[in-house]
Amino acid sequence: MKIKRRRSSIMDITSDALPSSSHFHLKQLADGVYAAMSREGSGSMSNAGIVDLGDRTLVFDTFLSPTAAQDLRNAAEQLTGRPVSYVVNSHHDVDHIYGNQVFPPATTIIATTQTRDLIATRGAEFLAWAQENLAEDLRTEEKRIKELTDLSQREEAALVLASNHVLLSSLPAITLRVPNLTFEHKLILHGSRRSVELLCYGGGHTPSDSFLYLPKERIAFMGDLLFVGMHASIWQDNPQSWIDILARAEALAVQVAVPGHGTLGTGEHVTIFRDYLCSVQEIALAVHRRGGSEDEAAQEAIPACYASWKGAALFAELMRSCYRACAKSTV
Ligand SMILES: [Zn+2]
Repeated sequence: MKIKRRRSSIMDITSDALPSSSHFHLKQLADGVYAAMSREGSGSMSNAGIVDLGDRTLVFDTFLSPTAAQDLRNAAEQLTGRPVSYVVNSHHDVDHIYGNQVFPPATTIIATTQTRDLIATRGAEFLAWAQENLAEDLRTEEKRIKELTDLSQREEAALVLASNHVLLSSLPAITLRVPNLTFEHKLILHGSRRSVELLCYGGGHTPSDSFLYLPKERIAFMGDLLFVGMHASIWQDNPQSWIDILARAEALAVQVAVPGHGTLGTGEHVTIFRDYLCSVQEIALAVHRRGGSEDEAAQEAIPACYASWKGAALFAELMRSCYRACAKSTV
C-alpha cells in the first residue's frame, strides 16, 4: 500500500492526501470519519468505514479478502495513530467479514448475536464450498461472460469476476474469525471524542442487519441495508421488514449515508432505496394477484426509473423473493 500524506491539519486533508489502496479509496466525511469506498474488481467488493472515537479506533466491516482488509487496517492505524480497538460486522455476508482475521487479537469484533451465529455457520460453509468449488465456478462464469452480448453487462460481470479471483487467491490464507462481542438492538460506544451507536432494527437484506450511526454528525454506515445506484440482493423472504427498517432509519434524518454497495449517498438515498423496494414489492404483488407464477414475476421488466442502476441481474432474484413473500402472506 502506497501512503501519500501532506503536512496539513486533518481538516485540510483532501482525498489525494489520504492513504491510498488498490482495493478502496478513502473519503473524509467529517473530522476523524472516513468512508472506504470499494474499487470495482478489487478484493474489497463492498464499502467499509473508519471512525476515530478519540481514544480508540473503530473499523466498520472488513471486505471480502484479507489483502484488502490489511490495507484498511493500515489506513486506520495511520489516520488515527493507534491500533484498531473495534471492528463491526454489519451482517454475515462474506464480502463484509473475510478480512476480520487481519486485525490484532486484542481487537474486539462486534456483531448482533444472530449475525455472529450466521458467520460461524454460513461463513464457514461458504469457505468450505469455495475451497472445493470456486475455481471451477469461476471458469464457468468466465465462459458465460464471454457469451454476453450486452457490453455494459459484460463489463460489470467481469469486475465481479475479478473480485472473486482475488477471493480465490486468498482462500488458502483465510481463517474465519467470529465476533467476540454481541448485542441485540443497540450498543453505544462512548469515545473521548465522539459517541457512536450500533443499531439493529431486525433483518432486511439478511436475517440480521445492523448499521452504525453517528448522531452528532448525522452520518450512517448502512452496510447492505442500503445500495446506492444499484439493484439489491436479499437473503431472506421478508422484504417488508427491510422496508420498515429503512423507514425507521429515515427518521434519524441522516445527512451522509454510506451504502454497503454503490456510491456515497445522503438521507435522500435511503428514501429512494425504500421506494425502490416498495416498487418491486408492488410489481410482485400484481403478478401474484393475477395468478402469475414466481418465474413470471422474475421475467418482469425493470421500471424505467431504475434502468440505469447497476446489478440488473439482481432484480429478478429480488422479484422472486417479493413474490414468495406475497404467496406466503396470502396462504
Ligand atoms: Zn455486501
